[in-house]
Amino acid sequence: MSTRKVQLVISPVEPHYVGDGFRVHNFIPGINELSMQRMSPFILMDYNSKFIFEPSETPKGVGVHPHRGFETVTIAYKGKVEHNDSSGGGGVIGEGDVQWMTAASGILHKEFHEKEWSKQGGEFQMVQLWINLPAKDKMSKPKYQAIQKADMSRYEIENNGGEIEIIAGEFNGIKGNASTFTPLHLYNARLKKGATVNFSFPEDYNTAMLVIEGNIKVNNSETAPTDHFVLMANDGKDFSVNAQDDAVVLVLSGEPINEPIAAHGPFVMNTRDELMQAFDDFNKGKFGYLEY
Ligand code: MN
Repeated sequence: MSTRKVQLVISPVEPHYVGDGFRVHNFIPGINELSMQRMSPFILMDYNSKFIFEPSETPKGVGVHPHRGFETVTIAYKGKVEHNDSSGGGGVIGEGDVQWMTAASGILHKEFHEKEWSKQGGEFQMVQLWINLPAKDKMSKPKYQAIQKADMSRYEIENNGGEIEIIAGEFNGIKGNASTFTPLHLYNARLKKGATVNFSFPEDYNTAMLVIEGNIKVNNSETAPTDHFVLMANDGKDFSVNAQDDAVVLVLSGEPINEPIAAHGPFVMNTRDELMQAFDDFNKGKFGYLEY
């Protein structure tokens, strides 16, 4: 056993709005230690902690905008989101579903609360991650993966301790459905009160957890409450999570992409020239077309 220690437990910063439909706490790239490189390949994390949206006839969200050079992964915990993009990808994700969109060479997309859900309003809780692509794949073809909760691979924790939903990568030999460009693991650990689960990732994999529900204790020492982010050090492989209540924990771990990052707004490239090119291509309409 080489224990991986907790580096920091980070409280959510003041939320801001993305469009008018996502009230998010930004954790990556955030204050403290969380630069894009520190958590590579996870270069952005926005977290809409539980928030009640009032009923609205017009769905709230973010209108048509471009992306290039990475993937956006949206994980729904409460509420429903509809997505459409210029490569023809799209769909609705609801509680427990995941939408994995590979922007790569460039897409336009829009993200809104689903129409019927919007009319009723209610509790909304989501995570959006941006996952970087290595230079060799940044200009590959856009792609869309819809991963329904019902189809997710699961690992049952002994003694009715709950389950690990494997979104991508693998856990104890069980593989998740999402295909990724670089090695990474992404799970929802749905733990019953009192359950303990052990995780093990290569030491250099950047690793963190976001506590979605409940309180957890890591390595039997540090406590992390709901809506807190736990940054793990790169000083060992193994760590344990104990659920102090029924808990849901988003676990992320990935091999760093050791390449320069040039990021501005919706584009994440390797050099400034490539960034300029992205703006130029976008202005010339090379990202396709999507109706507002
Ligand atoms: Mn977007």
